[in-house]
Amino acid sequence: MKKLVILTGAGISAESGIKTFRDAGGLWEEHRVEDVASPMGWALNRRLVLKFYNDRRRQLAGCEPNAGHIGLAALEKYFDVHIITQNIDNLHERAGSTKVIHLHGELTKARSTKDPELIYDIGYNDIREGDKCDLGSQLRPHIVWFGEAVPMIEEAVKVTGQADIFAVIGTSLNVYPAAGLIEYVPEGASLWLIDPNDVYVPGDRRVEVIKEAAGKGVEILAGRLMDLK
Ligand code: NAD
Repeated sequence: MKKLVILTGAGISAESGIKTFRDAGGLWEEHRVEDVASPMGWALNRRLVLKFYNDRRRQLAGCEPNAGHIGLAALEKYFDVHIITQNIDNLHERAGSTKVIHLHGELTKARSTKDPELIYDIGYNDIREGDKCDLGSQLRPHIVWFGEAVPMIEEAVKVTGQADIFAVIGTSLNVYPAAGLIEYVPEGASLWLIDPNDVYVPGDRRVEVIKEAAGKGVEILAGRLMDLK
């Protein structure tokens, strides 16, 4: 089976009712990103940060995977599909995708502020001030905030380097190191992009652009990939 590697961003979940950064004009769900998604934000107002992610988690509980997520999961019948997502939602997994790398963490997990390896499944439950890990320190969202290291990038680079086909869906490619993955796509692999808006793809590679929203775009991509399987 050929290896199909997909890099997804907030755009793939837009049709499920979750706002992207861009569409919100630099604000994410009415908040400045620095206030709710940075170590500084956490240091200054822990209560606000916890509320922000508790709200996102509750919203996620009421959202469903859309045709884009479902179409990518269905491609596992024909390809060795690996999803690398910048999203913190769990909609790829709920659609049935089995190999998902979360570059920026996961909303349904919490972790210790003392030991980053101490990670807990919390489902759709809130994290409150005073909720502690087994070492006795406050729990925080299991999210990679701006300015923090991205531990899963190594695995993502490895998978990208083995791709026969690489597709980018619903990401503005503004956030690094995720956007830098394009550099690791092998020379011989075909490169695809699905986005209803123009996106600058770094480098001078030939890119097959499908200028559609994710649901429709994944359907078109699947049809065109059938010749490559
Ligand atoms: P972004 O907001 O910068 O870019 C979103 C891209 O999706 C844009 O290019 C836009 O044109 C496109 N888009 C909009 N509607 C679409 C649709 N229906 N189908 C396909 N594409 C569509 O988001 P990003 O590049 O993912 O980077 C921002 C960061 O935001 C990431 O770090 C991510 O962790 C975080 N984020 C995550 C979620 C989520 O988990 N669902 C939501 C918002 C932000």
